[in-house]
Amino acid sequence: MKVAVIGLGAVGAQVLWQLSRHKHLEVQGFDTAYPGHSMAGAGGGSRLFWNLEFAELAYTPLIRRAETAWRELESVSSRVLRDRTGVLVYGEEGDAQLECAMQSAGLVGSPIEMLGVAELRKRFPQFLFPERSLGLWDQEGAVIRPERTVAVAGELARHNGATIHEFTPVHSIEPSGTRVKLTSPQGVQTFDQVVVACGGWTTKLLPHIRDEVVVRRLTSMWFNGNEDGYLTHFPPFLRTAPSYCYGIPSHDSRTVKLGLGFNDHYVTGDADRLPRHLTGNPLERQLDKFEWIRQEMLPGLARRPYRVETYVESYTRTMIEYIRRHPESDNILIMTGFSGHGFRVAPVLGEIGCQIVLEGESDIDIGFMGRVEPVFSILDREQGTTTHNAVMKSRGSKN
Ligand SMILES: Cc1cc2nc3c(=O)[nH]c(=O)nc-3n(C[C@H](O)[C@H](O)[C@H](O)COP(=O)(O)OP(=O)(O)OC[C@H]3O[C@@H](n4cnc5c(N)ncnc54)[C@H](O)[C@@H]3O)c2cc1C
Repeated sequence: MKVAVIGLGAVGAQVLWQLSRHKHLEVQGFDTAYPGHSMAGAGGGSRLFWNLEFAELAYTPLIRRAETAWRELESVSSRVLRDRTGVLVYGEEGDAQLECAMQSAGLVGSPIEMLGVAELRKRFPQFLFPERSLGLWDQEGAVIRPERTVAVAGELARHNGATIHEFTPVHSIEPSGTRVKLTSPQGVQTFDQVVVACGGWTTKLLPHIRDEVVVRRLTSMWFNGNEDGYLTHFPPFLRTAPSYCYGIPSHDSRTVKLGLGFNDHYVTGDADRLPRHLTGNPLERQLDKFEWIRQEMLPGLARRPYRVETYVESYTRTMIEYIRRHPESDNILIMTGFSGHGFRVAPVLGEIGCQIVLEGESDIDIGFMGRVEPVFSILDREQGTTTHNAVMKSRGSKN
């Protein structure tokens, strides 16, 4: 059987690796650039790995499986792909996301410590914690090395005999009888099965999914501390309420990368259309969106970031993965819409994609993905505008 994986980013590279372990398959991967580049959804040097779920308890089997899948990838490759730092999740007492996180802790079976406001203030003096703050210390949380992880999965696949077509964007795919026709700069090729994992570019290749999936451009900002040592022992964190944000310190504890939630990202119907390098007014507007973090949460940060970058991610209306067959062909599997949390489970998604290609279904129950209630509506499928995302509490800023 001849299988193509289109898009070798966080998820596609894992699917490619899993498929390449089956010697009877001829496996080919295509990417606009190469596995491990920094221009898509996996760039920026770090991603959080945390063992809690904020909205949908049916998702916890994926998280439970994630640790095993990551360990296998790390063991087979003999590479360090995550740094075991622990991750702080915090919000306000009574916050629905935090309550879901607490319930999920029991289901995932990972060690979690509950922290009241006094304990939070003692352990993490860099933060201003409001009186009603409540924290969960995820002891086995970690910081992922994203580009290295993607590159390593690509290397493993190549080692197993997969062919990787670098700098080969796929222009179209088309069902053709029981097979699938794929067009790229290398011409037309035919495959038995095709997996599409193009992240924020999937809606360009398969416009029908615009009813369910939107694209956002996300900004990451890197800050120094004002004083030497401000960021020493600073934890990677996710804050759920009163408004969402996250931060990941650098290895040397000198800087921190900050990011915001869905409602604060740039809307785009075309991942290639928005400029990626911010200057002038767009930069000023983005700086304004981050300013509250310094004022209300982390007063010791420098006033301005020393580095600003943008990345692309795809989001479903449910904020849960879009893993479905093409409506016109059972031979095309679409994997996208990882909604800002796909990296931590990427090796599991690789297993799921491979199982669906080979066996028609996965041994992890993903049936719930089609049953979850949407948390926003798509107002314009071409532009990708939506209503406010009810799950991500933000400052309510308009994009
Ligand atoms: C700033 C930011 C922070 C995040 N933080 C976290 C976090 O802390 N923890 C977490 O778990 N998740 C996080 N995420 C989410 C996670 O990174 C994404 O869910 C994940 O990268 C999506 O994987 P993907 O494979 O769908 O897309 P990508 O990783 O974007 O890969 C898509 C690939 O497809 C290729 N491609 C596109 N079009 C074509 C084409 N036509 N032909 C061939 N190739 C093509 C691209 O070059 C790219 O390599 C974050 C995302 C962003 C953007």
